[in-house]
Amino acid sequence: MPVNLLDFDLESLRAWLAARGEKPFRAQQLMRWMHRGLAADFESMTDLSRDLRAKLAEGSEIRAPGVLRDSIALDGTRKWLLDVGVGNGIETVFIPEASRGTLCVSSQVGCALECAFCSTGRQGFNRNLSAGEIVGQLWHASRALGADAAAGRRPITNVVLMGMGEPLANFDAVVTALRVMLDDHGYGLSRRRVTLSTSGMVPWMDRLREACPVSLAVSLHAPNDALRDRLVPINRKWPLAQLLAACRRYVESAAAAGGDEDGDAPAAGAPALKWQRRGAPRDFITFEYVMLQGVNDSPAHARQLVDLVGDLSCKFNLIPFNPFPDSGFERSRPEAVAAFQSVLMEAGFVTTVRRTRGDDIDGACGQLAGRVMDRTQRAVRREVGEAVRQ
Ligand code: SAH
Ligand code: SF4
Repeated sequence: MPVNLLDFDLESLRAWLAARGEKPFRAQQLMRWMHRGLAADFESMTDLSRDLRAKLAEGSEIRAPGVLRDSIALDGTRKWLLDVGVGNGIETVFIPEASRGTLCVSSQVGCALECAFCSTGRQGFNRNLSAGEIVGQLWHASRALGADAAAGRRPITNVVLMGMGEPLANFDAVVTALRVMLDDHGYGLSRRRVTLSTSGMVPWMDRLREACPVSLAVSLHAPNDALRDRLVPINRKWPLAQLLAACRRYVESAAAAGGDEDGDAPAAGAPALKWQRRGAPRDFITFEYVMLQGVNDSPAHARQLVDLVGDLSCKFNLIPFNPFPDSGFERSRPEAVAAFQSVLMEAGFVTTVRRTRGDDIDGACGQLAGRVMDRTQRAVRREVGEAVRQ
């Protein structure tokens, strides 16, 4: 298979070109054509010599996942089911709002972590996405939405890694993709506008802080270990005390660096180290908390949360549970969400309630199911488990 140039960040593209006897600045030109010009082939790359274009066309290509389905919800949310081979499909969702457009990107085909309330987790796991398949979602959506960097048309202003999969379980590919998103020769997004959401893979949170400190959202969902062990099973490996300590380290690296300005994509060709010294883009963590009726949504749970986070610099984002068949959970009542929110707000925490978007096309949080050829036999294990319990 030809090399997919979407798999490269600037540095690795430079190395790849150098190995073929090309000058380093060619990497910048190519990145700009691919990610700003959204070119799909080499013909249009008029500032590259005919020779180089021919050479590139021979051994490489610009290959994003193809579209299997394209749906638009009543509220304008748009969801693509993208083909990632051998029966597998991933989902990418665009959420338009008055002041911004957010693209929700997947990082794996399915997810191996089995959170109790998540439909992706229910589907099982097939494989990690490559960097090109992750960046390819942004490349494809930008083209489909008519992005035009030269004309200043940027329908996608924010990217969240909140689609299918646990991004930190696919660390290298995710970091490469993040670097392309941030690069001035790539999508030029500020690190404040790129958010990675994790269920709490503690050692990789530290690595992310070193490698590419984008905004961090942490899926908390419970204020104590007993409950979190049940809802987010990875908590058994890295319990709350460890998770909260990692959050503190993430935030403190920003504080130590004296914060950071907005609109701060690295300057042309800036080495990764330069942005590291400037610290994380935001000096707070966003805690996501899915509201499950009668499970984790009482005012007592909210008070426990306040005690748990203490003086950590953080915000809360409450997510009304999005149902899917046989989930076994129900969405909290609006009054319960409001009461929970007031406890957190009165304790001084900015607390937002996520508006459910695109639920008529199953495009809301936790509803992304794609098509996963499960390799973990999760469905079989579920059936066996249910049969044993009966
Ligand atoms: N694996 C990562 C990112 C993908 S999930 C993570 O867990 O953080 C993105 C967010 O949607 C997470 O906070 C997740 O807990 C939440 N979520 C999962 N299932 C949901 C559901 N059914 N309703 C509402 N939110 C859900
Ligand atoms: Fe995976 Fe996140 Fe779903 Fe948990 S909530 S199963 S980590 S995608």
